Amino acid sequence: MEPRAFYVAGRPAHGEDELTVTHPYDGQPVGRTTLATADQVEAAVAGAARVAAEAAALPAHARAAALDHVSRRLAERTDEVAALITAENGKPVKWAKAEVGRAISTFRWAAEEARRFSGDLQRLDTDPAATGRIALVRRVPRGPVLGITPFNFPLNLVAHKIAPALAVGTPIVVKPAPATPLTALLLGEILAETDLPDGMFSVLPLPNERAAELVADPRLPVVSFTGSGPVGAAIRRAAPDKHVTLELGGNAAAVICEDWSADEDLTFAAQRIATFSNYQAGQSCIAVQRVYVHERLYDGFLPRLVAAVQALRTGDPRSELTDVGPLVSVEAAQRVETWVDEAVAAGAVVETGGRRDGATYPPTVLSGVPADAKVCAEEVFGPVLVVAPVANDRAAFAAVNVSAYGLQAGVFTHRLDVAFDAARTLEVGGVIVGDVPSYRADQMPYGGVKGSGVGREGLRSAMDDYTEPRVTVLTGV
Ligand code: NAD
Repeated sequence: MEPRAFYVAGRPAHGEDELTVTHPYDGQPVGRTTLATADQVEAAVAGAARVAAEAAALPAHARAAALDHVSRRLAERTDEVAALITAENGKPVKWAKAEVGRAISTFRWAAEEARRFSGDLQRLDTDPAATGRIALVRRVPRGPVLGITPFNFPLNLVAHKIAPALAVGTPIVVKPAPATPLTALLLGEILAETDLPDGMFSVLPLPNERAAELVADPRLPVVSFTGSGPVGAAIRRAAPDKHVTLELGGNAAAVICEDWSADEDLTFAAQRIATFSNYQAGQSCIAVQRVYVHERLYDGFLPRLVAAVQALRTGDPRSELTDVGPLVSVEAAQRVETWVDEAVAAGAVVETGGRRDGATYPPTVLSGVPADAKVCAEEVFGPVLVVAPVANDRAAFAAVNVSAYGLQAGVFTHRLDVAFDAARTLEVGGVIVGDVPSYRADQMPYGGVKGSGVGREGLRSAMDDYTEPRVTVLTGV
């Protein structure tokens, strides 16, 4: 097994210390790479700084062509990329293929946005003193970006850092998660096939302390971080003068409103919630973790939910039939087990679930959970769902808001007034009406409030984030 190259200023490179990546399901080695040396990190950052002006001047057609190329090559290599995601992350291959499909469209959307990213023309003659003046408002890159990504979407979250950078013409240095660097390196291989100038991108496997040094480097004035709350907070403290975007965790909730009462409605909601609390073994920042059900519907809903969860197939993620694979590590599964045991000791009832087996934790539904139990109040990041009855829809929305987080919420209702009430009331970055909170389209603004972060991703939002307005006022027009 040859170590996979990483990318320094667009060129393949190897470091000194080896990093072996193992399969979360059976612990077997699945690939190797090396860690970038201090000199290589310096070359990556210096390359990004050197090429910044040239990158900003790249014509839209050149940026779009590079992005279209990446999209096309990912489509051609879908099976290989999906197998690599499954190998290093442990997500079932059907979800890995879905992730590749999303990354294909992330790069395609970025190419389309690159073609139409034009700025505004603003009239100034609303003020008599400015008669004859207009403003051209263009957006110019703030400077090279540092992208830091988590393990749970080894491809698409890296794509969400790189694609908007290339779309606006700004260089980027990416540091992938230590558990799942190989997919990002494969993406680097595809990026290296483009005509982008050297220095435009680097992908560097690094230990966390070395990543923290990059956060402090003034030549990377934009930091786009996706990961856990504590690390996000540390990054914000370490880079108070930088433009920092934080996409952090959550304990997403779904609400079954009073009007969602037909048999087929309850069955649909139960199936969606079962699937999206357990996809990727619950390791998604918008996996459903809490469900609040109108009390008149609770007794009809709960058995449907339990049946839908029990119908999921848990096992080897390499099988096309598997719905739920392992967590990323045995330690992660042990933490989930501890949290569930704590909730049960505090009075929770296990409606369905079972015993941990290595890194695999069985899909679990808990009722009667105290609101301050970790499985409810914190981010469980595992296949565990807390379900509770509520007196009315307003009480459900209040329960959703009793959270330190606020990423997305799902509201099952047919009523427009209830939907708008939810959109007004819920303290989140996005409300999904008629579906689970786990819905994300890659072009829409995406991000959270409260402990879930600062700023938004989604192609256009990230492009706005990586740039700032620059005004040219024209006189005598
Ligand atoms: P993590 O915070 O442990 O690590 C994320 C990245 O930060 C990794 O690349 C890690 O190596 C790096 N890192 C760690 N310490 C660092 C430091 N001091 N300085 C710089 N970089 C450092 O997160 P994880 O376990 O990989 O991912 C899971 C978390 O990510 C969950 O909390 C999940 O909710 C969150 N997440 C959020 C979103 C979103 O869009 N809001 C999406 C996916 C995942």
